[in-house]
Amino acid sequence: MVPSVDMSAATPVSAELFARAARSIPGGVNSPVRAFSAVGGTPRFIAEAAGSQLVDVDGNRYVDLVCSWGPMILGHAHPEVVDAVRSAALHGLSFGAPTEAEIALAEAIAARVDPVQRVRLVNSGTEATMSAVRLARGFTGRSKIIKFSGCYHGHVDALLADAGSGVATLGLPTSPGVTGAAAHDTLVLPYNDLDAVAAAFEAHPGAIAAVITEAAAGNMGAVAPVPGFNAGLRALADRHGALLIMDEVMTGFRVSGSGYYGIDGVAGDLYTFGKVMSGGLPAAAFGGRADVMDHLAPVGPVYQAGTLSGNPVAVAAGLATLSLATDEVYAQLDANAARVQQLLTEALSAAGVAHRVQAAGNLFSVFFTDSDQPIVDYAGVKATDTWRFAPFFHALLAGGIYPPPSAFEAWFVSTALSDDDFARLADALPAAAAAAA
Ligand code: PLP
Repeated sequence: MVPSVDMSAATPVSAELFARAARSIPGGVNSPVRAFSAVGGTPRFIAEAAGSQLVDVDGNRYVDLVCSWGPMILGHAHPEVVDAVRSAALHGLSFGAPTEAEIALAEAIAARVDPVQRVRLVNSGTEATMSAVRLARGFTGRSKIIKFSGCYHGHVDALLADAGSGVATLGLPTSPGVTGAAAHDTLVLPYNDLDAVAAAFEAHPGAIAAVITEAAAGNMGAVAPVPGFNAGLRALADRHGALLIMDEVMTGFRVSGSGYYGIDGVAGDLYTFGKVMSGGLPAAAFGGRADVMDHLAPVGPVYQAGTLSGNPVAVAAGLATLSLATDEVYAQLDANAARVQQLLTEALSAAGVAHRVQAAGNLFSVFFTDSDQPIVDYAGVKATDTWRFAPFFHALLAGGIYPPPSAFEAWFVSTALSDDDFARLADALPAAAAAAA
């Protein structure tokens, strides 16, 4: 059983570092979710990680169910990935000139996702979606973009627009600093609502360049597309001469060897990838139909570039990770995800806590709700008892489990989870379930 401890006392070094960090880094972190804002408490500063476990600067060990927000399917510091990185680094860190390994990574991505014929490497998922949207606009000569409420595509100005309700909203910036002009051409619609998409196409004839969607939503928690949703987007985009951009930054090479495309088989015109394809180093990609991609400079007129794009060390980590990601790896990820979900369900049910554990491929989330209906959109997620999440989270953390620090995030597993890790989770869950009650 989880000991009843005051974790603030067990994390003095993290607390000290957090206070120090806040003096030189806004909020003490380089990406907001790391600050534990949604759950409170001291973010754990990580000293090192290996396999399934994180070790913080106070020496606490955690079974990692975040996996760096997705990339680490093989667990941390996988020896073959580390070797590939070491060997690439020994040959030079960056050239700003083409390399053979970049071709191999582009080929590996295209070989796994049929609709992808050309690939351009970038440095982050944000850059990938930003570039894909620019290319879609350049290719179609149209301006407007449809995105879905609760879907996150990185912090691209035009894609931070979010209606936050079930009603299509034109150009409401979510963040100060996103100008009305930047968001003006963004139509935000409820996820899983094909009628809303059809209505938007009717309302803006010949004006919509692309629909961008998470191939399966993971950024409002795991919310899978309802059957026919992605195929319906494909059909509507075709009917109205728009492109379909499948954002697989989170799902790509995690939910199957060919991402969510490997699960539902709906072809996008353009794809965005990140996370797993670079094995934990900063690289990402966008790709798709050759005729669209060939509108990019230097072949075509749409400009896109990057000093560090195709960085040899990041490419080596990505190639090593993809080459190790066999069918057995995906079977193991699915099995591990199912095992965590089952333990969550058993513990919460035993404690009488109304909940839904919802999955999209091997991504999953826990929603505290007494509804027996699937949650299909952001409004549904926001209607759950999200306040139960913080005590649940902290009890897990106290029990040596590191879940995502927000009710609106997906949980990620690696192949490195062991029977001991599952036993630890099983031990930690009763107290967490009681805390959520
Ligand atoms: N698209 C999706 C679906 C994501 O989940 C993310 C990040 O979590 C991004 C884009 C942005 O990627 P990055 O954080 O590498 O900029």
